[in-house]
Amino acid sequence: MTKVTVLDGSFSSQVSTHVGKCADGDPLWTARFLVTNPDAVSSAHLDFLRAGSDIIETNTYQASVDGFKKHLGLSEEDSLELIRKAVDLAAQAVKIYKEEIEGHDEAVNRSPLIAGSCGPYGATLHDASEYTGTYAKSVSKDFLKDWHRPRIETLIKAGVDLLAIETVPCAEEAEALVELMKDFPDTKAWLSFSCSNDGKTLVDGSEFRDVALNCWKNAHPGQFIAVGINCVDPHFVTQYLESLRVMPEGKDVPLIVYPNSGEVYVPETKHWKGDDRVQIETYVHQWLDHGVQFIGGCCRVSALEIAKIRGQVETWRSQERETSL
Ligand SMILES: [Zn+2]
Repeated sequence: MTKVTVLDGSFSSQVSTHVGKCADGDPLWTARFLVTNPDAVSSAHLDFLRAGSDIIETNTYQASVDGFKKHLGLSEEDSLELIRKAVDLAAQAVKIYKEEIEGHDEAVNRSPLIAGSCGPYGATLHDASEYTGTYAKSVSKDFLKDWHRPRIETLIKAGVDLLAIETVPCAEEAEALVELMKDFPDTKAWLSFSCSNDGKTLVDGSEFRDVALNCWKNAHPGQFIAVGINCVDPHFVTQYLESLRVMPEGKDVPLIVYPNSGEVYVPETKHWKGDDRVQIETYVHQWLDHGVQFIGGCCRVSALEIAKIRGQVETWRSQERETSL
């Protein structure tokens, strides 16, 4: 039977329900809560575990040594310590969850994993450039490797099960990360791109299928468990999947998809707008039929919606079971 792994959703949306305010507009985004509201961070992870996530991501998408130095006045060592703390908070939630489900056989996600979230360089620039990738023109691949290395190294040492390399907006940064990961050959990762709402291209204008296939082929063998897209409008996901699947070499690439709610991020106001929220769960069967093996949500997708996605995954699996009998 096909294995499908359910991810978590928008950490930002979920943690805001515990903190009582939204992190949008903060240059550290939710990473600030590692200092100000650690209990809320752990509680948000726990919400996703209770909703059925097989993998939760650490609260490190927008965490960086530069950012912590600049906005929290921390030293390099203390900045790295804060990244370690993010892993501990996720581990704490997993521990609580495992105790909760002891004796409850109905729980479907019995051994959740922790993925270290690695957002792109652009996320820390705080100018929404993870949605344009324009910085690829002004920084080198070596610069990007050096910039990503300390967080990746720290997450691995702190004990994450794998890395979530995500919302990558440009070919250059994806290539840099694939190269960098060769220095950590024992660590698994996924690679997920920030895409335009056109079903074909990354936000920097390059072809998704070309960049994705290139990275897949050049990666250390067996290191990447999936390649795909996140933070895209759900309406366009199937087109992206088909664009890759239509290529002979693209047929066997394990796919990961975790779209946003279909609302639009406005860089000027640093908030999301739109009343066109998409019910992601209505797409789940379609995407699984296209070979998606990892599925979840990105911005504005709460634990409630992850529970609905989990429900659809279970229905799909039981239908698959019936047809194979
Ligand atoms: Zn997102």
